[in-house]
Amino acid sequence: MSNVIIVGGSVIGFGAALALADQGHRVRILERSTDEPPSTVDSAATWHRPTVPQFLQSHAFASLGCNLLRDRARDVYDGLRAAGAGEVNLADYPPPMLGGITRRPEDDDLRMVLSRRSTFELVLRERALARPGVSVRTGATVRGLVASGNRVTGVRLADGETIEADLVVDATGRKTAADTWLADADLPGRDVTSESCKIVYYTRYYRQRSERPPGPLNRGFGAGGLWDHYTAVLFLGDNGTFSISLGVLPEDTQMKGLREEEAFTAAVRATPLLAGWVAPGNSEPISPVYSMGSLDNSLRLPVEGQPLVEGFFPIGDALCTTNPAYGRGVSLGLQEAFLLADLLAEHPEPGETQAREFVARSTRLVRPWFEEAVMNDRGRAGLWEATVNGRQPQRPPAGVVTFGTAVAAASQDEEVWRRVANVMMMLKPPSALYADDEIRARVGKVLSGGPPPQLPGASRADLLAAVSADLVAK
Ligand SMILES: Cc1cc2nc3c(=O)[nH]c(=O)nc-3n(C[C@H](O)[C@H](O)[C@H](O)COP(=O)(O)OP(=O)(O)OC[C@H]3O[C@@H](n4cnc5c(N)ncnc54)[C@H](O)[C@@H]3O)c2cc1C
Repeated sequence: MSNVIIVGGSVIGFGAALALADQGHRVRILERSTDEPPSTVDSAATWHRPTVPQFLQSHAFASLGCNLLRDRARDVYDGLRAAGAGEVNLADYPPPMLGGITRRPEDDDLRMVLSRRSTFELVLRERALARPGVSVRTGATVRGLVASGNRVTGVRLADGETIEADLVVDATGRKTAADTWLADADLPGRDVTSESCKIVYYTRYYRQRSERPPGPLNRGFGAGGLWDHYTAVLFLGDNGTFSISLGVLPEDTQMKGLREEEAFTAAVRATPLLAGWVAPGNSEPISPVYSMGSLDNSLRLPVEGQPLVEGFFPIGDALCTTNPAYGRGVSLGLQEAFLLADLLAEHPEPGETQAREFVARSTRLVRPWFEEAVMNDRGRAGLWEATVNGRQPQRPPAGVVTFGTAVAAASQDEEVWRRVANVMMMLKPPSALYADDEIRARVGKVLSGGPPPQLPGASRADLLAAVSADLVAK
């Protein structure tokens, strides 16, 4: 069994610790933060983590990740439920215009746990640390790799201490410094492909006060819509909480006021789909507004034709990031963690075969999601830029399935709905939606009757008025 160092003690670092410990490996997690981690659901919700700003942003956990926990780490799944997380199946929430669906056995997999990121990570961390052989050292900032030839044999900390290991896992997130570590250690570098998601998020948390959901739950795990200049999504959380996230273009300066609580509330009230949730008596805010931008779709892969680095495995955001709007990051990272654990069972010896297989399998997993995110973000940002700048938006060419056209058609065609749900939940690859002749024909047929009715969002003028009224009042 291997002696593994995981650099980065966050959601995917702990997910990997758990996956590897269950195969008998000894795991040491090195985390730069010096903070004492919280031990309760409430204290976790306000944990200030400067190195993980997305910790305070809305999270939905796709079925891929939820099913992995149910099947391979049942104690985490049960622990989440015990900590107050809910559970939904998307097949219980088909679009109303379908008038119900005919359930299939495979629909049972469209399951999601409803939890704040903070509760999710709290439970995952506690369950990982309960496993034999898993330890975490905080205040340990990795600054470099120790290598022999092309093989990584350990890490170097900021104070110069070196720690040896059979394998090093990079789970340091979207700001990983591993490209510098590789260069400093004279190891082969990587191709980094990166493109802005062109979105900034504003998020606020609430506690529900009404007995029943005070608005429609058109997404099952919450409610939301994507309009021609913004998106607004409500995420049900654990213990009667929910969060609302608004997304706009980063250069949409007139929307900067959304970081103010009053303007944020005004914008939610101007969005009919969500207004009921923040009506007096239905809920109370339990957080300020948290904003986050500078988001990229990114992918780090070995340079083709160069030798591979052995004994070094990037996972989670350190390997690939996709626009958070698609809710894929945690599921992808957990899948990579279990993929690595399975690979080590098949190829326990660090070396070229192990490295090659990891690159092949992890690339096969993440590349389609990365490419889908880039494609969808280009389309959505083009639409938003046109609306914000008063231009006529370009519509996708006829016969091309986009996320927007597929979601629109899903409201009237059960097969399209099922495919959209399976791809959104990552149970089927993007090609099952965008490159499938039957789906293309069905989407074309629905849309040939004209665009389906839009979900009730705010017009550009209404949203501007809501946000600027608050600024004028100041
Ligand atoms: C706005 C937003 C909303 C999101 N919503 C969703 C969602 O709905 N669903 C979903 O699945 N995903 C979502 N994501 C993505 C998800 O948050 C990430 O995929 C996930 O946090 C990645 O986890 P990670 O462990 O790889 O990295 P991180 O959570 O970023 O953690 C990296 C860790 O490494 C530590 N570290 C960094 N450098 C060092 C070093 N040199 N030495 C030691 N430690 C180090 C950091 O302190 C940190 O603890 C969202 C992301 C954003 C930005």
